[in-house]
Amino acid sequence: MHIPELRAALAETGAGPGHTSRFLRSWTHNRPLSAGRAHPERHFPQAMLRVAPALQEQLAKLVRPVSEHPAADGSRRLLLALQDGKTVETVLLPRQGVCVSTQLGCAVGCRFCMTGRDGLIRQLGSAEIVAQVVHARSLTAVRKVVFMGMGEPAHNLTAVLEAIDVLGQEGQIAHKQLVFSTVGDPRAFEALAAQRIKPALALSLHTTRADLRRQLLPRAPDLSPQALIEAAAHYAELSGYPVQVQWTLMHGVNDGTDEWEAIVALMSRRRLMLNLIPFNDVEGSGYRRPSWEHAADMARWLNRHGVYTRLRRSAGQDVEAGCGQLRTRQPEVQVVKRRHPLNAAAPTLGASG
Ligand code: SF4
Repeated sequence: MHIPELRAALAETGAGPGHTSRFLRSWTHNRPLSAGRAHPERHFPQAMLRVAPALQEQLAKLVRPVSEHPAADGSRRLLLALQDGKTVETVLLPRQGVCVSTQLGCAVGCRFCMTGRDGLIRQLGSAEIVAQVVHARSLTAVRKVVFMGMGEPAHNLTAVLEAIDVLGQEGQIAHKQLVFSTVGDPRAFEALAAQRIKPALALSLHTTRADLRRQLLPRAPDLSPQALIEAAAHYAELSGYPVQVQWTLMHGVNDGTDEWEAIVALMSRRRLMLNLIPFNDVEGSGYRRPSWEHAADMARWLNRHGVYTRLRRSAGQDVEAGCGQLRTRQPEVQVVKRRHPLNAAAPTLGASG
């Protein structure tokens, strides 16, 4: 399901932009439409109030929890089922963040990522992306949304931008707390610059070597690391907040001192920060995690040489935290189709994709 379909369904009931906005606000905050209103009939068209429960029912069924995996660091990795029985991963992060998936599978095929192994299975609709946040809000407070789960957001750009717009506008997430993560795609750089809500940007770089990057991210757009950093630095100036450069650190692959020096040449004195994330072991990947001491040395050296660097653990390392690892164990759940009586009263919104 996509958000424009939802807007169109509401408009058919006579809802104006203000009514639609209040409907979206109640959904994204996981609150009833009548919350804070003693007489909702005075605030919304009658036809909209008749249809609203069935629409809300459909939205509530977009994702349903399958399993939850709490980790020692306070994060909780959720496996959620979509209406067609396919499953996606959503992670509740410490400090009121949530990491959402934007696609089922992924076409980029990064060598170190479980999600990329099966290619793209299907796109998520914008409503399915927002529904992950709504579900998270049913469990805990959410003030930050990062689009770093399964999928490459630039490959589902329209849906992700719709989700960002609703989450920033009606969902009241601060713009810089919405983090669009990409391997670097010219269409995404162009589109983000034109958005009324400009999210923060995270660029998955992983290496300063073009040849190595082609190997590690075989189907990412073929832009050189220099061109990617230029585009990221330009967006940082435009949005006003630093771009996070993501670097999955793999032993003997991209953790050598040649990379340290090249990072300094590429990134110092720019509005960029580097996140070093030691690789999370994935069975059969052929890559290994470097020692924590080595990663810490690298972070210290880079900080001393003018690149603001943070060494991070990926959330929930003790619970199969590699992107797509949970889903690989349970890719689908059985769907039991049951017609809900309310559905007869509402326009049926299409499946995503
Ligand atoms: S790391 Fe991200 S872009 Fe690469 S295959 Fe996995 S989901 Fe896709």
